[in-house]
Amino acid sequence: MDLSIIIPIYNEETNLPALYARLAAMLDAQPWQAEVILVNDGSHDRSLTIMRELAARDPRLHYITFSRNFGHQIAITAGLDLSSGAAVVVMDGDLQDPPELLPELYAKLQEGYEVVYAKRRTRQGESMIKLFTAKMFYRILASITSVNIPLDTGDFRIVSRKVVNALKQMPEQNKFIRGQIAWIGYRQTFLEFDRSERAGGEPGYTYSKLIRLALDGITSFSDLPLRVATVGGFVVSGIAFLVMLYAMYARFFMNNYGTGWPSIMVSVLFLGGVQLMAVGIIGEYMARLGANARQRPLYIIEETDLRRE
Ligand code: UDP
Ligand code: MG
Repeated sequence: MDLSIIIPIYNEETNLPALYARLAAMLDAQPWQAEVILVNDGSHDRSLTIMRELAARDPRLHYITFSRNFGHQIAITAGLDLSSGAAVVVMDGDLQDPPELLPELYAKLQEGYEVVYAKRRTRQGESMIKLFTAKMFYRILASITSVNIPLDTGDFRIVSRKVVNALKQMPEQNKFIRGQIAWIGYRQTFLEFDRSERAGGEPGYTYSKLIRLALDGITSFSDLPLRVATVGGFVVSGIAFLVMLYAMYARFFMNNYGTGWPSIMVSVLFLGGVQLMAVGIIGEYMARLGANARQRPLYIIEETDLRRE
């Protein structure tokens, strides 16, 4: 097998037929032996039915279906686990990542790279808020982590079997695959492309899922927030100590003190806020420690037409 194409699918019934048509047209023109693995991440529309029909019609196409919605990153992980290609492509199922770019990605990989990621030159059909928050997030992440996570890229990329094997050795529960691939290293490069609008249907990434992904990215690759919490705690208690000395001096030596309500309110609220924030940051890391300590399987497969070991 030369190439595995992994596509997570969450409620993409309107896009699947066009996705298949464009993939098949592209694959027909290539000399590779390829497999397409559609991973149904608990869709509640007709996606699974369509996937089964497509798999029955075309032997290159396979599907995996989860027992519920486990999330995009986990769907990619399942696809990687069951893939057998010497190279593996990960792409979205809403046609925002054009299948026609695959030959170029594949050719670039053959030049001696282990990872070729597709970088978004432009992005269409996305709200100003989404574009702005995404841009900010990747810049902040880049500035606080030690791994170089490429800017303006999603999970659309081609990787070699070596990288897939390395990913399989990373058992973390809270996946941030684009960060893990950057962490793995090897020779990596990129190709630019224009990202189009979602062809149809609704985005499966709600804001709460995006925030969770962002927190997974930060907590998996940076301890800076924890250090900020510690340093912030020291700085604030230092200031509070000085203010306390001054308050005692004013009370006993200058006999110059007011009723005290504003100063008490300000310091109580401020200290309370800083403490809650620090506890919250610690909590985010603790929750992830807990998830990894429980060692649950990452996903439950309900049905697949792929052979499993
Ligand atoms: N997706 C998924 N599980 C989810 C949410 C999304 O498998 O819980 C899939 C979705 O079907 C699509 C890809 O992940 O193939 C990207 O999702 P979406 O288009 O909603 O994200 P965006 O393009 O807005 O980042
Ligand atoms: Mg999309």
